[in-house]
Amino acid sequence: MTSRFQVVEQGPPIEVFQKNKLFIDDSFQNKVNLTIGAYRDENGKPWVLPVVRKVEKQMAADETLLHEYLPVLGLDQFSNASVSMLLGEDNPVIASGRAFGVQVLSGTGGLRVGAEFLRRHLNYNTFYYSQPTWENHHLVFVRAGFENPRTYRYWNAKTRTIDFDGMVEDLRAAPENSVVLLHACAHNPTGIDPTHEQWEKIADVCEERKLFPFFDSAYQGFASGDLDRDAWAVRYFVQRGFELVCAQSYAKNFGLYNERVGNLAVVVADAALAPAMKSQLTWVVRAGYSNPPAHGARIVATVLSDKQLFDQWREHIKMMSSRVIQMREALRAELIKLGTPGTWDHIVKQIGLFSYTGLTPRQVQHLIEQYHIYLLNSGRINICGLNPGNVRYVAEAIHDAVVKFPGDDEVYAKL
Ligand code: PMP
Repeated sequence: MTSRFQVVEQGPPIEVFQKNKLFIDDSFQNKVNLTIGAYRDENGKPWVLPVVRKVEKQMAADETLLHEYLPVLGLDQFSNASVSMLLGEDNPVIASGRAFGVQVLSGTGGLRVGAEFLRRHLNYNTFYYSQPTWENHHLVFVRAGFENPRTYRYWNAKTRTIDFDGMVEDLRAAPENSVVLLHACAHNPTGIDPTHEQWEKIADVCEERKLFPFFDSAYQGFASGDLDRDAWAVRYFVQRGFELVCAQSYAKNFGLYNERVGNLAVVVADAALAPAMKSQLTWVVRAGYSNPPAHGARIVATVLSDKQLFDQWREHIKMMSSRVIQMREALRAELIKLGTPGTWDHIVKQIGLFSYTGLTPRQVQHLIEQYHIYLLNSGRINICGLNPGNVRYVAEAIHDAVVKFPGDDEVYAKL
């Protein structure tokens, strides 16, 4: 039978979900999953934060909680607490009404709502994202209507550090009113953030060129274990007087991946403009999904507004971030012990969930085919996929891949 849908061509797979599925379907006993960006405990298992379980139990017993629609812009208690967490509760822009939040569908939803708002109401049409970046940034902005996607240099593959001069040069050449996507902390995928001095320079360029900073904060507290430290860059820009937006995700720091809990924080120069902006954001959300889900936002709002629960949560994020740091050290130590060609200091210098290992696509293929170790073609690994039981196995496999299929670095070293 003929179908009108014959015109639909097969779309490409999403690499991270495809590799995750290959891992799940693999029957090899010692398989290792270093793909998807989610926390795993030291037994390789997903972890529900105990404070989340506790609040969920309270919620289950609370018969005053209903399943009525939330307002289009979500729970005020949640978005206010989120803005305070991001900017610091005594930030003067909060008291003066110059900052507000909108509950959105996790980090991705915040990026999308923010991009659509800027495209539609400010007529911004050019956006800059780091090369490389989280693979969804480009798609979200283009689908939100931005017609001119551009990249700024960020990574120097040879030195495995930030290409700061390249970044500044590219941003200097940006047209006025370009939106610049900046990772608030724990840059994905490289794990390398600008230093404070470098952030100051980035702010200078944004000011000179009249660029609009759009922060993506997917890892606050999860990166260093310290909520304030991970919010430094955003707070610095606010203190410099920038108007900005920031997409906040609670997927990683609360382990609420599938609950889609996020906030779009907005800082505006004049508090009197907030009501009109909120009214238009209401229409952006209305057209997209009408209103957000309540469950995850209630959990986060409860924890952020109760001193005891908040302290407990802070212990959890410290614990998660220190396990990541320990595993970075363990992997580097094993590679050094094995005498694996190349330098591996970057593994411990990078922060957050990921390491951009520098492994080549050929080496990645070898790890998957010979060792059942799954990672992205870019060489990005999720450090949480490592644990005391598999880190030696992974290091030996990397050693074998690097020796069998030397990358540029190893070739240079022999010349
Ligand atoms: N931004 C970055 C940089 C991320 O790494 C992620 C998660 N992988 C997100 C945004 C958004 O994730 P989510 O929509 O699940 O909150």
